[in-house]
Amino acid sequence: MDQLHSALNSLKLLRTNVGQIFESLGGGIRIEHGEEHGDNKFLHELQELLTTTNGYLRDLESTVNSLSTPPAPLTLGNTSFLVQELSQDRQALYSQLVNSYKWIDKVHDYGTIAATVLHANSLKRSYNSNSNKRRRPLGSCHNIPPSHFDSVLTNIERSFNDMTINITRPHATNAIVHITLGHVLKAVLIFKGIMIEWVTVKGYDETFDDDLWAESRHQVFRKVQDHTHSAMLHFYSPTLPDLAVKFFMAWLNSYLKLFSEPCKKCGNYLLNSYPPTWRDFRLLEPFHEECK
Ligand SMILES: [Zn+2]
Repeated sequence: MDQLHSALNSLKLLRTNVGQIFESLGGGIRIEHGEEHGDNKFLHELQELLTTTNGYLRDLESTVNSLSTPPAPLTLGNTSFLVQELSQDRQALYSQLVNSYKWIDKVHDYGTIAATVLHANSLKRSYNSNSNKRRRPLGSCHNIPPSHFDSVLTNIERSFNDMTINITRPHATNAIVHITLGHVLKAVLIFKGIMIEWVTVKGYDETFDDDLWAESRHQVFRKVQDHTHSAMLHFYSPTLPDLAVKFFMAWLNSYLKLFSEPCKKCGNYLLNSYPPTWRDFRLLEPFHEECK
């Protein structure tokens, strides 16, 4: 064991020294080498470093040579019983086991880091966190009966004149809602329970076909889609999911005047050839992206 220790030690010395060489090489000729003959002094420094490295390398070689092969593999607790395994193809289990220990260690490390990073992210979309004391029963907004969902959406449709809503359920439970807003735009809302998961916005002249995720070919509707995603997160509320959808729809409905209302701040219809694509969350007033 002592020999192994000294071998590891000389390996460490060698690595440190090689590190120094690269550091010095990377730094190039420095001020302390002086203005005149700086290059000579630099070369001399490198040479010295290389000589020491050679010495360390020789040390390492000699200590490694004096090491003897361990008579039996190092044991990890009960795993030594694996040696008694008779079947030929199971004898390699030991090294695999060591590898999986290392792997689990790494998973543990990464897991800890990921947990720290995720914990710092306050944008929580679920109530899974243990620290939350106002915890509601899970699934309050994921598991809702389709009839309830339909009645919420029908009520919303009734309260807006120029909004038509069409609900489909191609994948059994979760609904996909097609919305047409006057002659201005079309949108597809993909729901999970009564929580909006995704929004795609397109122009009135465009179709969705099979790909509900494909973006509009008009830049203005792509911009509007970006804003709907902010709104989706803004209005999201796991405690009052019905209300969240209603607020979102009221907000979306304000795009009926996308091309016919001037910006509330600069008073213009167009800025950088865009209409006011942003809508204030509270008063639903139109703003250019640059004016909000
Ligand atoms: Zn403006």
